[in-house]
Amino acid sequence: MNLDATKPIVQPGPLVSIVIPMLNERAGLRTLFDRVAQAIQDTPVEWEMVIVDDGSTDGTREVIADELARFPHWRLVLLSRNFGQQPAYRAGLENARGDAVIFLDADLQDPPELVPELLAKWREGFKVVTGSRVSREERGLRRLAFDSFHQLFHRMTGRVMPINSGMFSLVDRVVVNHLLAARETNLFLPALKCWYGYPQATISYARKDRAVGEPKQSFNKLFRYALDGLFSFSDLPLQWIAATGAVICLASFGYAAVLIVEKILQMFGYLPSLRVLGFTTLAAAVFFFGGLNLLALGIVGQYLARIYREIKGRPLYVVEQILTSDEPRRIQQSRQG
Ligand code: UDP
Ligand code: MG
Repeated sequence: MNLDATKPIVQPGPLVSIVIPMLNERAGLRTLFDRVAQAIQDTPVEWEMVIVDDGSTDGTREVIADELARFPHWRLVLLSRNFGQQPAYRAGLENARGDAVIFLDADLQDPPELVPELLAKWREGFKVVTGSRVSREERGLRRLAFDSFHQLFHRMTGRVMPINSGMFSLVDRVVVNHLLAARETNLFLPALKCWYGYPQATISYARKDRAVGEPKQSFNKLFRYALDGLFSFSDLPLQWIAATGAVICLASFGYAAVLIVEKILQMFGYLPSLRVLGFTTLAAAVFFFGGLNLLALGIVGQYLARIYREIKGRPLYVVEQILTSDEPRRIQQSRQG
């Protein structure tokens, strides 16, 4: 309690944590931090940077603490190896103390200049504010993969998240606590943060290309990320298998009935000769149904592997060290690539 009546009571603004995961993002570090600071410093909030280094080997970890030292409040979480973008975001979330958390990629594809817009929506009362891309600068196969995924995801999951959205968003503490309580190993935060409900808003923006460097989400990683999203938010593939099986069963009953009638008619001499299936027809049928079986098994396997991963209950990531502005220290051990 402030007993000194002469002193004005200063109401601190809410605290906002900006969570940024990094894998080998050394080249763009300074610009990123400058742009984030510039975007948020005139807004009426306190803010902290929560940076997660996801096993960088390009020297990011050696320079990052020095770069962060320019800011009043920061926390640097060093993971013991590369665990992937979603686990890194989760590590950031667990170390964020803010009343709201902003998720931001390190490559400046999502402009930090939109942070005030996210905050304005939050102050209007929205608990989740998601950035939705009206355009993208990526081209080629990567672009095709992104577009197809978003269309497919949107159709398969009943629109759980705004179309063409990703990690770039603001999430209120009430939703952050739900996210922290979720023990999912197959994390797909873009949709999970929207799944809890509460008032939600969307802001539109044009997604740029990477400011520097190559994408750190390799095609392989992106593919697995997309599957995690689809399989953790939809069981439609299992229903497709069941429906395909039912259709094939019905068709085979119909065909069997035709064959039986034909046989009877032949026995009584109403039909002249025996109809024998050719090798080509049989071979094609065997290959087709063999393939279909394996495909169905593969889809079931995707769910099974995810259940297995959940049941093992391994940690999503391992923290090697946490450095904070409260007790700034130098990184003693440099990480060999
Ligand atoms: N990232 C990470 N760990 C990884 C891959 C990526 O922390 O294993 C970070 C990366 O440094 C960036 C963000 O996740 O800050 C998004 O990665 P990227 O830009 O490569 O992905 P995309 O834009 O293709 O989704
Ligand atoms: Mg990117």
